[in-house]
Amino acid sequence: MVDTCLCMGAGITLAQGLQRAEPDTVHFAFIGDSTFFHTGIPGVVNAVYNQTDIVLIVLDNSTTAMTGQQHHPGTGKTMMGKISEKISIGKVLKALGVKQVVTQDPLHLEQAIAAVQEAVDFKGIAAVIFESPCIAVTKPSPLYSVDLAKCTGCKRCIKELGCPAIVKENTKVRIDASWCSGCSICAQVCPFKAIGGVQK
Ligand code: SF4
Ligand code: SF4
Repeated sequence: MVDTCLCMGAGITLAQGLQRAEPDTVHFAFIGDSTFFHTGIPGVVNAVYNQTDIVLIVLDNSTTAMTGQQHHPGTGKTMMGKISEKISIGKVLKALGVKQVVTQDPLHLEQAIAAVQEAVDFKGIAAVIFESPCIAVTKPSPLYSVDLAKCTGCKRCIKELGCPAIVKENTKVRIDASWCSGCSICAQVCPFKAIGGVQK
């Protein structure tokens, strides 16, 4: 989905500018939970007020993943580690006037696609909050592997996902355990049920 990558904090306002330039195209803005709190909210206010038709995807892994794992208003702890009531991103969006707000687990592929489709079909700013723990903090399990007897080598898992753990091997594919987070998306995408189980 990402055609333009400037910085995550600018994503919501950038999508609004692009929507004005190309009103017949669906424009997506992606923002993480931490960035939403420190710079995303003004962009949402602007989009609501100016009736901009964009889809906002909030990637909420409940941590400041890449820049230090420090707490923010959505984690439930202050910067000094004291327990504090979480501020709900969904409630903030609704309070700002976003009428279509859906929270979804991105690792349930069919429901995730349906949630995005619903947001695309909505007129005005629509938001999908994808909630899933950060893989740098919590590794889901079990890890996945390819059953070579079932794999037909169709490469759908490679073409549709781009997951760095899935690598071509001769005419088939294998999963590199050192990269696999056990998210299960490849198993949901494989039409031959060739992916599953625990990595050996
Ligand atoms: S989608 Fe399934 S059958 Fe196709 S290459 Fe991947 S593992 Fe093999
Ligand atoms: S389970 Fe997730 S991380 Fe592991 S290979 Fe499949 S898509 Fe990649």
